[in-house]
Formats: sequence, structure tokens, C-alpha cells
Amino acid sequence: MMRPFTSTISLDEARRRLDANVRPISRTERVRLDAAAGRVAAADVTSPLDVPPFARSAMDGYAVVAADTASASRHHPAVLGLIDRIYTGQPSEVVVTNGSCAEIATGAPLPSGADAVVMVEETAKSADDRIHIFAAAVPGQNVGRRGADILRGDRVVASGDHLTASRVGALAAIGCTEVDVYARPRVAILSTGNEVVEPGARLAPGQIFDVNRFTLAAIVSAHGGVAESHRAVPDTVADLAAALDACAGADLIVFSGGSSVGERDLIVDAIASRAGEMIFHGIAVRPGKPTAFARFGTASFFGMPGNPTSCLSNAYILLVPFLRATARLPPYAPRIVRAPLARRIVSAAGRHQFYTVRIRDGVAHPAFKGSGDITSLSQADGYIEIAADQDTVEEGSPVDVTLL
Ligand code: AMP
Ligand code: MG
Repeated sequence: MMRPFTSTISLDEARRRLDANVRPISRTERVRLDAAAGRVAAADVTSPLDVPPFARSAMDGYAVVAADTASASRHHPAVLGLIDRIYTGQPSEVVVTNGSCAEIATGAPLPSGADAVVMVEETAKSADDRIHIFAAAVPGQNVGRRGADILRGDRVVASGDHLTASRVGALAAIGCTEVDVYARPRVAILSTGNEVVEPGARLAPGQIFDVNRFTLAAIVSAHGGVAESHRAVPDTVADLAAALDACAGADLIVFSGGSSVGERDLIVDAIASRAGEMIFHGIAVRPGKPTAFARFGTASFFGMPGNPTSCLSNAYILLVPFLRATARLPPYAPRIVRAPLARRIVSAAGRHQFYTVRIRDGVAHPAFKGSGDITSLSQADGYIEIAADQDTVEEGSPVDVTLL
């Protein structure tokens, strides 16, 4: 039974409704520091110690009493007696007093008495092991103070911080081995359609391989979710409703297919049969009009179009921001480059269009084939957006290409 969409909402309105329905994840878990990169801290972490835990040399050179070098120059070097060689990991017992110095390596603990390090390039050693200092040093020069990096009690990571490489490094610096993070949202992924079969199976006449479960899983893992793939289900309300039940427990449920004209009532009915609340169904975008969003118990439900490029395109535009907000990750900021358009594009009237392009020699060439063709995206470098009220983009006009 074919029933066309009676109405669609604008992309902006769809985004507003999605934003209003984000439930940032509240489950937490503890992970080893090795596995913490890319996660989101679920608690403040304060330092139990000073970093560095001791004053140390920032240069290879000589630990001195700065006052001894006050008038040192190339022509009139200060001459100091060498009393020790200090390597990293080996605190020295000596006390550097006026007239003496100790050779010291970068990272080695500053010996007591010394208050500066003269870098080796500004010194010379005479045959009798006396050190000639050619430049005046001021107190503190080339010395990393105890606690200069992090003081005991400092907050190293705040709850909600995205654990970038450097933040994992800061946690390592304070000796942390495990960290509390927010759980990754669980995302159930399921393709619908009598014709859809798993890659590797033998294709019977009329069947196609499942594309969407793979594109969606790739997107979900890349943006902080745990993809839980389910087997494709046939187009009946009973199968879809049972599939919804099988996905219970997930934070997000992402179905594809069966949401377009002719089958739309199946998804709608399946959601309704499980007391789901439809938030929207139908967006004025191209490709990807038949996208639905519903609340289903504690889970959020996305009904993506079956056409692989429509499905993936809307996954980028709608699912990624929603998933990242659920995962408490910072918004994704894709790279955008400006390039002249190789030839005129005529766009769908009244729909915000995503048009894929290939960039060759700094020029954006249209790459869109059809919504059903995954190569519309797989052979593109990015896409341009054409606003709903704009119907053509002229050859040669500069376009902003969002890189994929
Ligand atoms: P539908 O949204 O179910 O009406 O499907 C629209 C088109 O996308 C049809 O040609 C389907 O065969 C195709 N399609 C649906 N689901 C998938 C899938 N998981 N992988 C590849 N193609 C699909
Ligand atoms: Mg279908």
C-alpha cells in the first residue's frame, strides 16, 4: 500500500528535536589508562604528588651556584671545580658550594646547593677537570622546579573532559593506572527488508547484500559508540516489533530500510506497538527524506532510509551529532575546503540537498549518482550543501566542501 509523506519537517527542525532528545550517558566504567584515549572522564582527577617530584635539570650542563658566574664571559670565564657527575635516576649526595659545580644530565635531580644549570655549550673543560663557564647564569636558569608542571592537589582532568593523548599523558605523569570514564553508548544496528542478506551468503534472485549495517557500524564505532549488529529482519510488523524487543537495553537503536513510502507504516506500527513516541518522520532533505526518530523506552530510535547513500548521509548529518552528544564527546568538526564547482548543479526544490563531489586539481566535480548507489559516497571526497530555497549552483561558483 503506497502512501506518500503528507508532510516533512525542515533539517533545522529535525536537528532541534534531536538536540532536545539527547540523553547524555550516565553509566560509567573504569578503564586502564592504556585504553582511556578517546574516552570521556567521568570524575575529576587530582594529583597526589608534585610533577616533577624533584627539582631537575632542563639541560645537559653543569649545576652551579649562580652567584659564582655573575661576571663570567668568554674572555673572563668563571672557573669551577668539578665535584660530581649526576645522571638521571640517581640523586647526588654532594652539596655544590661556591667554587664548585657538578656535571648534570637533562632530567637529573639538581644537587643541593646548586641553583642553576649552565648548558654544556657555554662551558669548556680543562685537562685538570676544571670547568670554565662562559656566561652568567641567573638563579633558576635551566632548572625545572619541583611541581613546575603539576602541583599536588591540582586537578589534572575534569569530569567531562575528552581524554585526548595529552590528557592521558597528564594522567600518566601523576602515576594514574586506571580512570573512570563514561560508558560508550550501546547502539543496536539492524537492517530491514525481505531482500537484504548478509555478505558471504549466496544471492538468490532479487536479493542484495546488506550495506547499511556495515556503514552504520563504522560510523558508530568512529564516534564513540559500541555497535551491536543484529541480523536483518523481514518486512512485517511482527518481525520489526520482535526486533525492537531484541534491541531493548541499547541506548540507541538504528534501523534502516522500511521507512519510506509504501512501507512507512511498518516502522510506525512497530514503534506504536511497543508504545514508542514518534518525534518525527520525514525530513526535507535530499537524499534521506524518509528518516524517522522516536523515543522507545529509555532508548532513542532512528529509522534510517534503506538506500545506502541516503542512510549514510543522514548518519553523518543526524546520527553522528546525536551519538556524540549522548557519548558526551565534543561535537565533530569535519574539515571544510572551498573550491570552484566544475559544472552547474540543479537541486531539488524545497529540500536541503547534500551533493557529493570529488576534488580534482582544486576543483569540485559532482560525484552524486543516486541515493541507492553507495558509490555516490564511496567515490566522493566530500559533499556540498544546497539550501532548500536554492535551486541551482552555477559552474565556477565557489562551494564549501565538507570532507568525508
Ligand atoms: P527501503 O527504505 O526499505 O524502501 O529501501 C530502499 C532501497 O534501499 C531498496 O532498494 C532496498 O533494497 C535498499 N536497501 C534497503 N536496506 C538496505 C541495506 N541494508 N543494504 C543495502 N540496500 C538496502
Ligand atoms: Mg525495505
